Amino acid sequence: MARIFCVANQKGGVGKTTTTVNLAAGLARIGQRVLAVDLDPQGNATMGSGCDKRALQTTVYDVLLETATVAEARQRLPAVGYDLLGANRELAGAEVELVDLERRHLRLKQALATVDADYDVVLIDCPPSLSLLTLNGLCSAHGVVVPMQCEYFALEGLSDLVNTIKQVHANLNPSLQIIGLLRVMFDPRITLQQQVSEQLKAHFGDKVFDTVIPRNVRLAEAPSYGLPGVVFDPASKGAQAFVEFAGEMVRRLADLRTAPVGTPVAS
Ligand code: ADP
Ligand code: MG
Repeated sequence: MARIFCVANQKGGVGKTTTTVNLAAGLARIGQRVLAVDLDPQGNATMGSGCDKRALQTTVYDVLLETATVAEARQRLPAVGYDLLGANRELAGAEVELVDLERRHLRLKQALATVDADYDVVLIDCPPSLSLLTLNGLCSAHGVVVPMQCEYFALEGLSDLVNTIKQVHANLNPSLQIIGLLRVMFDPRITLQQQVSEQLKAHFGDKVFDTVIPRNVRLAEAPSYGLPGVVFDPASKGAQAFVEFAGEMVRRLADLRTAPVGTPVAS
């Protein structure tokens, strides 16, 4: 059975897409069968996986509107080691088109169920909003991975996301949990970042992943080559951190399997 995770944070530019594509590539590297789902109309995860969003005939948009199955819409990407359900600007219209349709928040969940046997892990790159698209992601998932920068307003911004996750957990998807908070773009030389990092650990305890992703220029350069950093420059500090993170995720997955269903989300 595939374990399904959203990479979510309602802020833009915090590292969601970088986390999605590099965790996907890192997991693939350690032998997991991975599907990445681009749920952001910007299509950055699509481009960053080496897939030209403008050339895509079928995308997650078609899947949400049920004009294509996941099996029809997914792309096999041997260069990066995982499969991709891509997105492009068309997806921005889905929000409006889904509004009057039944099961509008469950479209992705039902679609992913049809490829459950094909993957060990499904990673969903969410848009920077708590929209119907993100809701489709949260209703599909067993857990949420929250990338965040250790900046002054980091904790404040988190409360909306945590509240949304709690509401989805209570009303729509009882198996949803926060898997963990991932510190990204971390620069240990900056005292404030160290302080916020300590605050995060004090507040969220072991929900903070042990792995820290450093600020690393190779991770930022990789998308312009259509590759995750893990594939573009495996020796770079950023790539190594993501492969380490993939290992930590696999260990947490093992814990998840043994945890009782409906373990409450962190406060
Ligand atoms: P989001 O998907 O949340 O909008 P992105 O993953 O696109 O965020 O990241 C925002 C920007 O920061 C991108 O230009 C990306 O290349 C860069 N970036 C992300 N993570 C790192 C990192 N660890 N080191 C350096 N640059 C990074
Ligand atoms: Mg993004």
